[in-house]
Amino acid sequence: MKLWQFHGGLKLNGHKSLSSESQITPANIPPLLVLPLLQHIGEPTEAVVKVGDKVLKGQVIGHCREKDCSFLMSTPIHASSSGTVVAIENCPVPHPSGLTAPCIVIETDGEDKWIERTPIADYSTLSPTQLLYHIAKAGIVGLGGAGFPAHIKLSSKSIETLIINGAECEPYITCDDRLMREYPHDIIAGAQIISHVLGGTQRCVIAVENNKPEAYQALSEAAEGQLEVVLVPTRYPTGGERQLIQILTGKEVGRTELPAARGIVVHNVITARAVYRAVQYGRPLVSRVMTVTGKGVEKPQNLEVRFGTLMRFLIDQCGRGKARIERLIMGGPMMGFALPNEEFPIIKTTNCLIVSPADEIEKTPEPMPCIRCGACAQVCPVNLLPQQLYWYAKAKDFNKAQDYHIFDCIDCGCCAHVCPSHIPLVSYYRYAKAEIRASSQEHKQAEIAKQRHEFRTFRLERNKNERKEKLQKMKETSNASKEAAIKAALERTKAKKEQVASNEQK
Ligand code: SF4
Ligand code: SF4
Repeated sequence: MKLWQFHGGLKLNGHKSLSSESQITPANIPPLLVLPLLQHIGEPTEAVVKVGDKVLKGQVIGHCREKDCSFLMSTPIHASSSGTVVAIENCPVPHPSGLTAPCIVIETDGEDKWIERTPIADYSTLSPTQLLYHIAKAGIVGLGGAGFPAHIKLSSKSIETLIINGAECEPYITCDDRLMREYPHDIIAGAQIISHVLGGTQRCVIAVENNKPEAYQALSEAAEGQLEVVLVPTRYPTGGERQLIQILTGKEVGRTELPAARGIVVHNVITARAVYRAVQYGRPLVSRVMTVTGKGVEKPQNLEVRFGTLMRFLIDQCGRGKARIERLIMGGPMMGFALPNEEFPIIKTTNCLIVSPADEIEKTPEPMPCIRCGACAQVCPVNLLPQQLYWYAKAKDFNKAQDYHIFDCIDCGCCAHVCPSHIPLVSYYRYAKAEIRASSQEHKQAEIAKQRHEFRTFRLERNKNERKEKLQKMKETSNASKEAAIKAALERTKAKKEQVASNEQK
């Protein structure tokens, strides 16, 4: 099959052997689950349980604001084990902002008792819309990336090509690799269901990097020629949605375009399996496979972890190393972010935890001034000008940063990786994007406040005018009735006088 190339990218040291040979094992049930009400991109859910409620595994505890969530930018949250709700409060959530957010805290009972589930015996008998609704109710989000609700992408129309992304290109992470090796049939079945929901795509391609031969073989055998399984080059960030589309189809998805506009939908292998399990077993998304790795744990491994499990509990399960943990990264070393401690819950988008003692952390030299060498632009897979973005972000010239397409930056970190001046470029971009978003939010709120003020002024003015008109009318009515009364009295007097005169004549 003909493959294309994307601009830039890097060959990275994978560090994958730390965990790649560890079979997927279920993580233990933790005593406490902390489940954020927002674990996806979109609208947060609302708690539909209260403190003291008993819950079962798979029970909806956070619901979209409207009952039918299949067409909203939201997706429900389910209890990931059975137990009792002990708190609904703000807790630390794993996010670069370091903020807290509303969470439901469940004390588990150790029974892990499921709610009654509704599997679908033969999905081909259901319409795409019925399946879409089932998937939306299962709380499935894109598990390979930012957590975009899966049903939104699945409701795209006129899709010709479905790409199942098995290009796990970030160093250290091996959960997708293990999933492809151990559960290839689930992934193939999930891809077929997704294709059916999309109205039957002409092509379905599963892409695997060429450094994962076992995964490629397992998927090829399971596919039995029904789907294409393709080896793609091992080059970071091949697993990026737009980069993978370009490699497989030669199509460049434009800056303001969505892949669906080009007739393409991409889902990760782990999302395909989640769809399969939701349909085949009626299993809502309550857990995921993730990698816990780094020299800070004695046994790096791939675990199936219930959402809400605290990182501390997982690190203990993997064997806390003797050396003090100096750095904890959620995600990969390129696109992930450091957390200040282990008291954060695993959420739907947590694919990896890298636990590092001091001797695993490369000392980064102090940043030096930019020498305009242009190395960053050569490796940028989105064809941006990273040094310009850096200048404008640093100078807080956010309009210029937007002119240079800062929101197209995928935070891949290639530019910072090659920068000879060791400038933490991605931190500048993240800062600029956060500031722009905050000011656009402020702008929106100011606009809403202005509109409210204008409407209030208009309403007061309108009420004043209405009152004035009413008074005027009352006045006019009263004047008219006074005049009529006087006229009537005068007529009565006149008639009386005429009567008296006529009597006198008689
Ligand atoms: S790689 Fe670093 S030093 Fe070179 S142009 Fe980019 S930001 Fe400047
Ligand atoms: S982090 Fe952004 S600017 Fe830097 S290489 Fe990646 S996409 Fe380009």
